[in-house]
Amino acid sequence: MTGAVAGLVLSLGMIAPPVTAVASAGYDLDTASSLQVVVNKHRQLNPTGYVPGSLVAVQGERLRAQAADAYKQFARAAKSAGVNILPISGYRSFSQQASLYDSYVRQYGQATADTLAARPGYSEHQTGLAMDIGNASGTCALQACFANTPAGKWAATHGWEYGFIIRYPTGAEGTTGYTYEPWHMRYVGRAVAQDMKDTGIAALEDYFGLEKAPDYL
Ligand SMILES: [Zn+2]
Repeated sequence: MTGAVAGLVLSLGMIAPPVTAVASAGYDLDTASSLQVVVNKHRQLNPTGYVPGSLVAVQGERLRAQAADAYKQFARAAKSAGVNILPISGYRSFSQQASLYDSYVRQYGQATADTLAARPGYSEHQTGLAMDIGNASGTCALQACFANTPAGKWAATHGWEYGFIIRYPTGAEGTTGYTYEPWHMRYVGRAVAQDMKDTGIAALEDYFGLEKAPDYL
């Protein structure tokens, strides 16, 4: 940028936002309401008690409007191909997550609870952009073997076409903080989902150049 242009930009108050990594340019990774927000064990929701402004019903579960529209198209296309996918768990509020996490702490202690559920304020389900899916038959529900079922294969192969990624890919526990969850779909928008597929970058943290988040700080 030449001095003259820089002076003009400064005089107009056009100061570029900070960029976390090349791939994150133009995306807000920090605000809970952003469609590209990254929530993990190092990145609590901001604000912590975030409640999406609009939640849309999806077969007994709820998602934010954009994610719900995309999910419905995804599930409809699957059904046309003979794959019956059912939503298992979508939006969860801070207090619902707290109840879930606290029940695990009481039953198993904190160390085990942290492997079973996110602490309140750290769950991607609170964004309204995540959906756990299952086969209508119930086969391999919330188990790694889900990946080899019709619904799991459909999600892995076609999810990106609707803006979804498999948020906790296999072998990425040291980055995402979670073991393989082939059922946990996260809406990030078509552009990001397609770019992750094209570049072969499986973990959202790696795609946006964020630090690894294997455990709580
Ligand atoms: Zn989930």
